[in-house]
Amino acid sequence: MDAVSSSDYRVMDKIIVLIGAPGAGKGTQARLLDERRGIPQISTGDIFREMKKADTPLAKEVQAIMDAGELISDELTYKIVQDRTARETGAYILDGYPRTAVQAKQLEELANEQRKEIQAIEIDVPKEELIKRLTGRRSCPVCGEIYNIYSKPPKVSGFCDRHPETELHHRADDNLESVATRLATYEEKTKPLIEYYKASGRLTKVSGEGELEQIYEKVSSVV
Ligand code: AMP
Repeated sequence: MDAVSSSDYRVMDKIIVLIGAPGAGKGTQARLLDERRGIPQISTGDIFREMKKADTPLAKEVQAIMDAGELISDELTYKIVQDRTARETGAYILDGYPRTAVQAKQLEELANEQRKEIQAIEIDVPKEELIKRLTGRRSCPVCGEIYNIYSKPPKVSGFCDRHPETELHHRADDNLESVATRLATYEEKTKPLIEYYKASGRLTKVSGEGELEQIYEKVSSVV
């Protein structure tokens, strides 16, 4: 059998939990870890965004909750996470889960069942910066590239650099009102999880300000 390098060994059997406010860059960092290190990114936000496209009463309910910037029920979210992670035999990244104390408990059970350890990484960004990032955020529906009208505008306003015929998408929940609700929900329900993971020695804090590549270097070095 081939020898396993120490860095490969470290990422085996881990659930990497990215915690941070909406707009902190969890999705961007998770995507980079997936692309460059081959650790699968599982984003509950992406799963729900896919779900809400269906023409069913449940999809309509999911859409209304998401667009208002509120949280989907812990019960439904857990079912989705159980289902989506069941096929993962190695390490994976949870981007946007857990977001409540109940979800954190449920994840402990899941990690036990899957015989994986939880490693939490906090991506920290000041609130004023978050509001700019979220309300200015635009993405390409084809390649997923994320732009920001303030800090990373596309070459042609409103269109993707790589897909110039494709109009950029502004998320329904990235309007000012939903952003305020999402940030308040984060403060109230998700932020306490930072203390929870810190108390059990499973948290690393990384600053989410500055160049994307520098943030990636920091995140990747602790995984
Ligand atoms: P995100 O893309 O992570 O910002 O998630 C977008 C939206 O999906 C959130 O504002 C919630 O409405 C929903 N969502 C994502 N993850 C969760 C979760 N763990 N628990 C409840 N709702 C979630």
